[in-house]
Amino acid sequence: MKTQAVVSRLSQNCYNNKVVIEMNCLICVGVAQRVMCAGPWEERDCPVCGRYRISDELILALMDQGQIFDVLKVRGWLDTRRTEGFLPCIQSPEGLLVTVVEPTSTPAQVK
Ligand SMILES: [Zn+2]
Repeated sequence: MKTQAVVSRLSQNCYNNKVVIEMNCLICVGVAQRVMCAGPWEERDCPVCGRYRISDELILALMDQGQIFDVLKVRGWLDTRRTEGFLPCIQSPEGLLVTVVEPTSTPAQVK
């Protein structure tokens, strides 16, 4: 089963990765406070991004694929959730990742 593979890798490999990033924001990689929480979550209180949770599984998947968050998009999403009265919990990266495109097709100009 796919889920079991993820869980076993979580216990084997990922612990080290999680230690490395323990004191950093998982979105902007700045220094952030780790908040202890129950369940398969990492919770952070970042001075810039604010407080949020990300599922362990998603962190693993992102590391595996070498993907990173689109910081501005994530912050916008977090703000939206907060105005709705929730502690933002990122489970699905949909729409929140930096889209990797070919360098030649990337417009260099940013206004
Ligand atoms: Zn941050």
